[in-house]
Amino acid sequence: MDVLVCQALIDIVGAENFTQKLIDLVSYSYDASGYQHRPDCAVWATSTEQVSKILTLANSKGIPVTVRGAGTGLGGLAVPAKGGIVLDLTRMNRILEISVPDRLAVVQPGVVYADFQAALAPLGFFFPPDPASGSVCTLGGNVGTNAGGLRAVKYGTTRDYVLSLKAVLANGEVMHVGARTMKTSSGYDLCRLLVGSEGTLAVITEITLKICPKPSYTATALATFHRLEDAGEAVTLVMHSDVTPSVMELLDGAAIELLRKHARIELPEVEALLLVETDGLTEDYVRFELERVAQLFHKCNAIEVRVAKDQQDAEHLWEARKAIGGMMGTVHLDCVPEDIAVPMSRIAEFLRRSQDLSRQYNLFLFNFGHAGDGNLHTNIFYDSNDPDQTARLEQLLYDLHKLACDLGGTLSGEHGIGMTKAAYMPLEHDRVALKVMRTLKRALDPNNILNPGKMGLE
Ligand SMILES: Cc1cc2nc3c(=O)[nH]c(=O)nc-3n(C[C@H](O)[C@H](O)[C@H](O)COP(=O)(O)OP(=O)(O)OC[C@H]3O[C@@H](n4cnc5c(N)ncnc54)[C@H](O)[C@@H]3O)c2cc1C
Repeated sequence: MDVLVCQALIDIVGAENFTQKLIDLVSYSYDASGYQHRPDCAVWATSTEQVSKILTLANSKGIPVTVRGAGTGLGGLAVPAKGGIVLDLTRMNRILEISVPDRLAVVQPGVVYADFQAALAPLGFFFPPDPASGSVCTLGGNVGTNAGGLRAVKYGTTRDYVLSLKAVLANGEVMHVGARTMKTSSGYDLCRLLVGSEGTLAVITEITLKICPKPSYTATALATFHRLEDAGEAVTLVMHSDVTPSVMELLDGAAIELLRKHARIELPEVEALLLVETDGLTEDYVRFELERVAQLFHKCNAIEVRVAKDQQDAEHLWEARKAIGGMMGTVHLDCVPEDIAVPMSRIAEFLRRSQDLSRQYNLFLFNFGHAGDGNLHTNIFYDSNDPDQTARLEQLLYDLHKLACDLGGTLSGEHGIGMTKAAYMPLEHDRVALKVMRTLKRALDPNNILNPGKMGLE
């Protein structure tokens, strides 16, 4: 990169917030996906004004800028695909305001999800999207990807909590979008446009989030089913009922088998397991709701429904679900973690047909995920050193995403598109919708400097 540009960046952020060290450039070349590309430099911005100056400079020179939080994205989202500048916002990590009367908080994008949660807890409040990476990922990254988690079935995803944003456009102009109110019908909803835009439309430097009173009680149950279709039917029945569980997680037979073998967890040989949680203000009510769910599970031929007697028992029931992440590390193969979502009524069909694809391409896969909102994590094992397996994997991934879209689903329930799913965008979005996305991108970023090479926008 031109030394004059480097000097200009140092003048903006200070020498201590600029790096071209090889070790830093290598660290910034990847996220939690397998994709890698090295940037030319990285800067840590500490204010909106600095971000504005950096983007003005980059835009005038046509230099790519990839904004980055903790880099835990699973789709090559924060990978600087075209080099240029990595704009790290983790030093903008202050919680600026928590207003319980207004039920909102104002934060900088680099605040870590878990730190925000910890600040809300003493006030009896919480921020519901619950990504499993919460101990490290940032709120800026959560907004950039529209992150979700276990509790999306009841509480929705990040998008449902973003009230307003301060954002810097590619040309350095700063805009405020949204409102500090619980609702607004004023003009185009630019807030929702920016949520999930993966750093391709603007850099977000301040976020106003809705916060919620934390429910005092939870109740947990685990049910097993001989047939996948019965578990699918159970999910559909629960979602048709007047109870909305706070968690409804599913593990398919292949996931259960793996846990038995690799995590040594005692589980029955069944085709499906459902873990369900209800939450609320009184113990009686959450138990009443859980009973209703248990009745529906029995109606769908559940072999057994175990209701946790207390917190310790509940943690025991959570053991299998929580062990999945660690278990994957013990299988000495590469693993592709997918996150398609399908309408709830099509879950069983998706699971069956994904196993058909597994057999067709002779690659092992298992499914677990958020059955209550149709978001399934299909994990495929393969050996990246074997070209034949890699070729089969590519075909399988294409067919899997096509299957999800054919069933009325979406390519990504929570991780985003980034680089890994860019080629599949036409499977879900029609020609006109893609044209509108590209038109929006060109209007806001005519020189294509913001996170270029992502989301199939080029
Ligand atoms: C073990 C593990 C578990 C995970 N579990 C979940 C889960 O349960 N649910 C879930 O949704 N995801 C999950 N993820 C994926 C990931 O953690 C989330 O996508 C998270 O929101 C990314 O946050 P980050 O700070 O790491 O963002 P990064 O990876 O740094 O960035 C993600 C995207 O957001 C953009 N971005 C970051 N900051 C800004 C900003 N200020 N302005 C504009 N754009 C910005 C980036 O350019 C990039 O495109 C998991 C990942 C791992 C590794």
